[in-house]
Formats: sequence, structure tokens, C-alpha cells
Amino acid sequence: MGNIVAIVGRPNVGKSTFFNRLIQRREAIVDSVSGVTRDRHYGKTDWNGHRFSLIDTGGYVKGSDDVFEAEIDRQVELAIDEADAIIFMVDVESGVTPMDEDVAKLLRKVEKPVLLAVNKVDNNKRLENAVEFYSLGLGEYFPIASTNGSGTGDLLDAVVEAL
Ligand code: GDP
Ligand code: MG
Repeated sequence: MGNIVAIVGRPNVGKSTFFNRLIQRREAIVDSVSGVTRDRHYGKTDWNGHRFSLIDTGGYVKGSDDVFEAEIDRQVELAIDEADAIIFMVDVESGVTPMDEDVAKLLRKVEKPVLLAVNKVDNNKRLENAVEFYSLGLGEYFPIASTNGSGTGDLLDAVVEAL
């Protein structure tokens, strides 16, 4: 039974906001590791007494939205290799994008647990809009808002259950 959870997804969906929310108050060590894993942040956290390591991917967004799909794919492949469970984060504000579909295609082949988190679900309208993410073919999703923590408890329950 492992305990490494990676957060993947295209830029600006809210991965780091979610990561920081979980890591912050716990005085966990957050490292930027050099080499192949540069731009990946590692932290430790716990949920209901289950300790696990969290990886925030995609610090490659250096002030630009222009990210090569290949780089995102590389981050996803790394996450698939090193994680025991994967949180795939998408953004209800933008809806399903071609990059989301690209990542979903990689994740549908994975044997490891994949939890689809639809972020920025800040109101009821957005909760309704979130249904479009069924089209990614990953099944049930968790509507969350990383900025205020709404829905994140249910997601974390599922994460520790999957580990
Ligand atoms: P990342 O590139 O996936 O790591 O995304 P960031 O965590 O840097 O967030 C990108 C933007 O989305 C920032 O402006 C965040 O404040 C915003 N954001 C993150 N979570 C939420 C949320 O739950 N609701 C809203 N409305 N905005 C959010
Ligand atoms: Mg980030």
C-alpha cells in the first residue's frame, strides 16, 4: 500500500491552490527537487489520520499559458510512474478543453486509481455545468472549490480510500 498522490492537469485549473491548502498549515516540507523532477513540489499531509505525500505538478507555467502539450503529457507520465493515486484536476469555468481530453486519454489507460476533481465549482450554476466532464470517460467526479475548500473533504475521503 503506497502513499503518494499526484495532482495533474493543464495550467491554471487550480492544482497549486489545492496543494497549498493541504500542505500549508501542517508545516510540511515542500521541496523543489532538481533534475528530471524540477518544477514538481512535494509535501506531506494527512487526512483523518492517513498520512500521504502530495505532488503538485506543472511549475512549468512560467508566466505563460503557452504550454506544450508534450510537457503536460510528460508530467502525467511521471505522475503515473511515481504515484499510487492520481488526482486529475479540471476547471468548470473553462469547461472541457482539448488539453483535458489529451490528459484523460492517457489516464483512461492507467491501472492506478484516478480521481477526477472538477475545480472552481463556486456556485450552483457551476455545479450544473460540471456534468460536461462525464465526457472525459473517467466516470464520477468530485466538484470542489480549492479556494474555499468546498467539496475537498469528499475528494480526500476517496483519495485515502484508494491508497
Ligand atoms: P495551477 O496552474 O493548476 O496550479 O492553478 P493555480 O492554483 O495557480 O490557480 C490558477 C487560478 O485559478 C488562480 O487565479 C486561482 O486563484 C484560481 N482558482 C483556484 N481555485 C479556484 C476556485 O476554487 N475557484 C475560483 N473561482 N478560482 C480558483
Ligand atoms: Mg501550479
